[in-house]
Amino acid sequence: MSTTLILGGGFGGLACARALRAKTPDNHRIVVVDRAPLFFVGATKTWLALGKRTAEEITRPRGSLLPAGIELVQADITRIDAASREVHTTAGTLHGDDLVIALGTEQELGSVPGLAEVAQSFYGLLDAQKLRSTLEAFSGGAIVILIPRSPYPCPPGPYEGALLLHDFLKQRGLDQRSSIDVWTVEPAPMATAGVEIGRTVVGMLTERGIGFHPSKKTSRVEPARRAVRFEDGAEAPFDLLIAVPPHRVPRIIVESWLAPPDGWIDVDPRTLAVKAKNVGPRVYAIGDVTRVGLPGRWSPQAPLVLPKAGVMAAAQGEVVAANIAATVNGTPATAAFDGKGHCFIEVGGGKAMRGDGDFFHMPHPHMDAHPPDEANYQSKVSWIEECLRPPA
Ligand SMILES: Cc1cc2nc3c(=O)[nH]c(=O)nc-3n(C[C@H](O)[C@H](O)[C@H](O)COP(=O)(O)OP(=O)(O)OC[C@H]3O[C@@H](n4cnc5c(N)ncnc54)[C@H](O)[C@@H]3O)c2cc1C
Repeated sequence: MSTTLILGGGFGGLACARALRAKTPDNHRIVVVDRAPLFFVGATKTWLALGKRTAEEITRPRGSLLPAGIELVQADITRIDAASREVHTTAGTLHGDDLVIALGTEQELGSVPGLAEVAQSFYGLLDAQKLRSTLEAFSGGAIVILIPRSPYPCPPGPYEGALLLHDFLKQRGLDQRSSIDVWTVEPAPMATAGVEIGRTVVGMLTERGIGFHPSKKTSRVEPARRAVRFEDGAEAPFDLLIAVPPHRVPRIIVESWLAPPDGWIDVDPRTLAVKAKNVGPRVYAIGDVTRVGLPGRWSPQAPLVLPKAGVMAAAQGEVVAANIAATVNGTPATAAFDGKGHCFIEVGGGKAMRGDGDFFHMPHPHMDAHPPDEANYQSKVSWIEECLRPPA
């Protein structure tokens, strides 16, 4: 009997476990380890913050999303020994013939002075719930949406948040008494996907009177003055500050020598095999925890990496599952990640834009953008329902 250990049961881990169970005999043991009992879809957090859904509607017990024949261990992973494929957890030590690391990101508000004291966010479940209470009591004022560091999961997320917030203020008759400004370290929204998509997003912000301030590196937040200070001397005063928290690779990944503190796990872009030193074969990493270098570029000096998104994590999980299953079944392991994935940007009024990205496209990534309409919004709703549906 062989064993696959899947570390993390989020987007990537769940997809990997499901696909692997479908492709391997019952005597292949599959173990998923995750510390948190509930799974939720990141794309629903704006709905939670804006009072469109309850936490119960957008979460599911993680075990309910796994088919029979998969062991779910609820525990904290404390160390990974990738050379021996041994994993230390608060529920004991596990050993796998194959190891799939799908531990996502860690938030680090403390890396920007003053941010933790005053910023709200919709990047976590509890944060989104807290923001919801704040917005229910909001009577108008200057809202700053701050993106202090990059990369972060879901590059369209903060822009979607700004558009939906605009819609929310309008519905409540607060738009004339309020302003929304996005201040970001990025040169443009969704820059990896190209200049055109960035222009489209900025156009949608501008149409609604939402300010956009690119290439602004945050130096600190001054809670007493209620202002954000930037390295170039600019300042953004706010009544309500909503930030995308700085994200980093989980600490245990660094402590396990799988990534540098300021980096991510380096993987083969097609097979997701981990490239770190002292790591043998049959160790994979998928999803937000990775750095997937792209073959194409927009400018020769600027290498690109794959954006962090649930659809990418899930697609990578399925590729890794196919190759592990092939090994288990004694057939050639030929599955390869194709760098393709879609995203939605909800714009308010029950409409969404859809982007279909081909990130391995040469000479640079390519994205087909479909203008906002109700059909795209319905596709987003169906995709989320699908993510939360128990296996048949
Ligand atoms: C507001 C918002 C909107 C988004 N919208 C979209 C969207 O529209 N489309 C899209 O594709 N993506 C979207 N995303 C991004 C998406 O949620 C992430 O890219 C995705 O969750 C990454 O999947 P993952 O499997 O890599 O990591 P995760 O889903 O984060 O899973 C990691 C898992 O590891 C577990 N874990 C971590 N450390 C430990 C440990 N030490 N011990 C045990 N367990 C541990 C965690 O509990 C977690 O369940 C959005 C995200 C946000 C925040």
